[in-house]
Amino acid sequence: MRTANNLNHLPPYLFAQIDAKRDALRAQGIEVISLGIGDPDIPTPTHIVDAMAEAIRNPANHQYPDYAGSLAYRSACAAWMQRRFGVELDPRTEVLALIGSKEGIAHIHTAFVNPGDYVLAPSIGYPVYSGGATLMHANTHFLRMRAETDWLAELADVPAEVLKKARILFIGYPNNPTGAIATPEYFDEAIAFCREHDLLLVHDNAYSEISFDGYVAPSILERPGAKDVCIEMFSLSKTYNMTGWRIAFACGNPTAVRALGTVKNNLDSGQFTAIQDAAIVALEGDQQCVADMCALYQRRRDLVLDALAAIGIECEAPKATIYVWAKVPEGYTSTDFTEKLLTEAHVIVTPGNGYGPDGEGYIRISLTTPDDQLLEAVRRIKATL
Ligand SMILES: *Cc1c(COP(=O)(O)O)cnc(C)c1O
Repeated sequence: MRTANNLNHLPPYLFAQIDAKRDALRAQGIEVISLGIGDPDIPTPTHIVDAMAEAIRNPANHQYPDYAGSLAYRSACAAWMQRRFGVELDPRTEVLALIGSKEGIAHIHTAFVNPGDYVLAPSIGYPVYSGGATLMHANTHFLRMRAETDWLAELADVPAEVLKKARILFIGYPNNPTGAIATPEYFDEAIAFCREHDLLLVHDNAYSEISFDGYVAPSILERPGAKDVCIEMFSLSKTYNMTGWRIAFACGNPTAVRALGTVKNNLDSGQFTAIQDAAIVALEGDQQCVADMCALYQRRRDLVLDALAAIGIECEAPKATIYVWAKVPEGYTSTDFTEKLLTEAHVIVTPGNGYGPDGEGYIRISLTTPDDQLLEAVRRIKATL
């Protein structure tokens, strides 16, 4: 049996090596605390779970769902975009339900990329931007990212021969893993760039609702002309602690929405309508649960920043996301430092180079660990260094 060549071109799973070391320590009876995973530890709010319990009893939901998402769900998404960002969308042509935004990000390549084409993706970022290209027998050109330019993926210096074959530009702010936020000017620059080079701009906005210190994250669709070139991916996963439910939506340019919908028509049959019903309740219900999560993450963020400061690592407090992106101490690489924390403090963090070469010299600490474990991890890190 011979598998497709492109499977061999996918990078090794980032966490596989770390998982193996963790399992070896656990086998010795050592309690390892993971600050590695970006998956909310708090359950989905009760009113959303209750809505699901009711929706699952509705026989109409037991049949095949509407491919594009129920009109009720798409309308709730459009209404949320209007309330939250002042962005007007036609739920019939400019909104598409997704089985998690990872699904939409992975399938947008099928809709826009031919074999041998290029996608442009941040050099530190969500692996699916480039993984999706590999699966289409296409290439990724990585855009430089660095602290000096506030981790905004740099659009200058893309070689002309790459630009000629490029189809998609991926960006995502608030950013995983750097915690960076975008300026309106940066969004405008990206929109102009995509217009000039005839690219689809995919904005991955998974963390729009998880922000701190009064910061409110924008939609790129607020920017003038954005809808001409842009599709934006929103997810209920991080906002409502719904990672396991697999519910998200894409919105924006109607040609892009239709093209992605066509790919999905041929691959899946939509998300369980009961989940969409519960998602409507999430989007339209009391948003206090979101504010509570932001307060919790902000408190945890400050705990982590204090601990890092105590061991001589200064880093800027992220204004959004569930991550702290920290420079490793002098004399360490990302891998060295990650290893040291694992073997000496029995704490797992993610090495920054796992997100791409420009992540070298950094680690990512996730804030989705219960408070008592987070405090214990902080104590161990302080004791080790
Ligand atoms: C979590 C995450 C997603 C995927 O979210 P799902 O909707 O659960 O698939 C997409 N992009 C980034 C940057 C993320 O961190």
